[in-house]
Order: sequence, then C-alpha cells, then structure tokens
Amino acid sequence: NTTTARRMQRVRPSPTAAISDRVRELEAAGKRIINLGEGELDFATPDVISYAGIAAIVGQQTKYTAVAGTAGLKRAIAHKFARDNGLTFQQHEIIAGSGAKQLIFNALLATVDPGQQVIIPAPYWVSYPDMVALAEGEPVIVPCEEQDGWKLRPETLAQAITPQTRWIILNSPGNPTGAIYSLQELRALADVLADHPQVLIMADDIYEPLRYNGAPFATFAQAALQLAERTLTINGVSKSHAMTGWRLGYAAGPAWLITAMQILQSQSTSNPSSISQAAAVAALQQPAAFFSQWLEKLTRRRQRVMAWVAATEGLSATPPEGAFYLFANCKGLIGRITPAGDPLADDSDVARWLLAEAGVAVLHGSAFGMPGYLRIAYAVKDELLEEACQRLEAACR
Ligand code: PLP
Repeated sequence: NTTTARRMQRVRPSPTAAISDRVRELEAAGKRIINLGEGELDFATPDVISYAGIAAIVGQQTKYTAVAGTAGLKRAIAHKFARDNGLTFQQHEIIAGSGAKQLIFNALLATVDPGQQVIIPAPYWVSYPDMVALAEGEPVIVPCEEQDGWKLRPETLAQAITPQTRWIILNSPGNPTGAIYSLQELRALADVLADHPQVLIMADDIYEPLRYNGAPFATFAQAALQLAERTLTINGVSKSHAMTGWRLGYAAGPAWLITAMQILQSQSTSNPSSISQAAAVAALQQPAAFFSQWLEKLTRRRQRVMAWVAATEGLSATPPEGAFYLFANCKGLIGRITPAGDPLADDSDVARWLLAEAGVAVLHGSAFGMPGYLRIAYAVKDELLEEACQRLEAACR
C-alpha cells in the first residue's frame, strides 16, 4: 500500500525546490542557467564563524546537547535580543532549532487544533500556509496592497480575526517583497490584537539585519510589550550570516510555548547540530558593522535589478526596503504572445518563458499568494547578475 497519510494531501512540494529541479534539468541538457530563484546569499560563511565550528569538531563538542540548545548559545541569543531589540529573555524562554523553519513548524504544531485559523498576510513566504495545513489548521490568506507597501492594514486585520483565530504571522523584512513594518505600524496592529486574547503573534525576523538606506527595525514584541506574553519572535543565522546550510534558528517567547516546542523537538529532531550551535555563538557575537560590506554589495545589486525593471515595458516594482528580493509586477507582460507564438496567460507562463528564452530562473508571484508578479532574488555574484539582467533585457525587448 503506497498511499500516503491524509495530511499529505494538504501540502504541496516547495515551489522553490520545483524551480531548482527544472534548472538542473535544463543544465543537464547543456543550457547555462542563471538562478535568481534561490533564497540564499551568495557570500561565503565568514571565517570567524566557520573556525568556531571547526574548533567545536576538534574540541569534541560533537555529542547531544540540551534539546533547546546549549547554555552558551542561549546566552548569546539573549544577548542579541537585548543588544538589537531591547528585549529581555531568560534561558527557559529561548529555544534553538534546526533552522527558523523547524521552529515555526513546531510552534504551529504545538498550538493549532484542527479548524483553528492562522492569518497569513499575502504575499507570504511559501511555507507558512502548508505548515498550517500540516498542523491541521486553516490558513487565512489576507491580501495586502502594493500601494500600502505590501503591509497589512489594521482595519484589514480586524476584519480577518474570528473566535477561531489562533495566530497571525508577521514577517519583516518580508519575503518576497522586502517590506519592513515601522514601530508605529506594529503598534497599530497591536491595538487591534489587544482586543483578541485568543490570538498569538509570530514575528519572523529572519532578514532583520538586511535593510537598505539605514531603514530602522522594530520587532513586534518591542513595539507591543503588553502583548509580549503572546508573542513568539523567530530569528536565525541562515540569512543574516550566510549560514543556510548550518541549519540554525532560534525563537523566544512565553515559557509555556517554548516548553511545548521543546517537548515536540525532544521527540522528533532533538538538539540542532552541536557544531552549528558553536558557530552560531560566534555569529551572534559579531557587531552590526559586520554587515556593512554585504549591505553595500546588496544595495548595488538591488539598484541593478531595479534599473532592469524600470527600463522594461510591462514591468514595475516597489523598491524593497530589506531582504534581497525584488517583487516585480509583470501584469504588463501577461496577455502578450512570445515571438515563438506562445501566449503568456499568467505569471507562471512569464517565469517559464524567461527561463526558456533568457535562461534566467525567477519565481512566479502566485507561489507567494500574489499572481501577476515575479520574485527576483538578487543575492548572486555581480557578474552573474549583470549577465542575467542583460539576458532578461534582451528577451523582454
Ligand atoms: N522565514 C522566512 C521568511 C524565510 O524566507 C526563510 C527561508 O527562506 C525562513 C524563515 C527559514 O529559514 P531557515 O533557514 O532558518 O530555516
């Protein structure tokens, strides 16, 4: 019997993985593809961090640790929250896991009962709705407007909340738009949430240090201390320190919730890699200046991609405030016919055509709950990005 469990019928494979498969197929057929689909910095993990990992291996820090992370790592995490966010957490209010992704999943699995709702503003990171579905909850997708900077309005939030609402997920800087909520915007959302004690707030801050033009950052718990008791703050070193493969994320929030996540973790994956934990301590100790070189590079690349979009009839985009994605409106290309005679009926067609014609992989906005857009990830080497933009320009012309 090869049928999978019923819960599997509610999840789709990650669209990011699907495009990577297609890229590999085309490459195997001899095509040179430039991948602007991947949510990953091209920078090397900095040596100071890698050496901390090597030291952990040589020093025999290669055994099980406490399920929620070593005391040393939790101290580094607490220090990070105090230094960057003005938040105070005790050790039992902190948990480390194998990536922010695992912590988000565990938090949902530990708290969502069948039929309970999770509010997800769109466009959203692809995994949120499927994780909610796996937890047997109901994702409630709430579309946001480009003219609102892709941010959820308080009145829209108020309309979406029901007695069954268990969570709202906020992601700032956001994937796929780079939108950043200001302190005031978070406070306005908090005012709405104050009247609904059944709702937990998840703040996914994984792109926190990657912000342009010195954009200020506030996390929800800091903006709404009165709701800190029902706020879970998620972060990690994947995007901030070019450490996606190390699989190390962390979360902080009320003790009851952290304990529940820890129980789940103790019966599934146990502690995150001891080696990655040691490396993450070194990562979290780096001062803010650590990011300035990366930000300079990303700022130039963001400029380059925006120039391509601005110069292309049929495309437009709101400049991202953070992260490393441009979310471009491609509605002006939809409805056109390619030189080969194929109609571009939707954003998937546009992405497929750009891959076939220009050899450049980008993701279609519908994967993020927002049809009519393309997500262009620009954290790739300068020369590659330049070539990609030239190929895209030529194809669109
Ligand atoms: N949250 C968002 C918004 C992301 O874009 C990603 C990765 O793409 C993650 C979480 C997961 O990060 P991690 O590598 O820590 O699991």
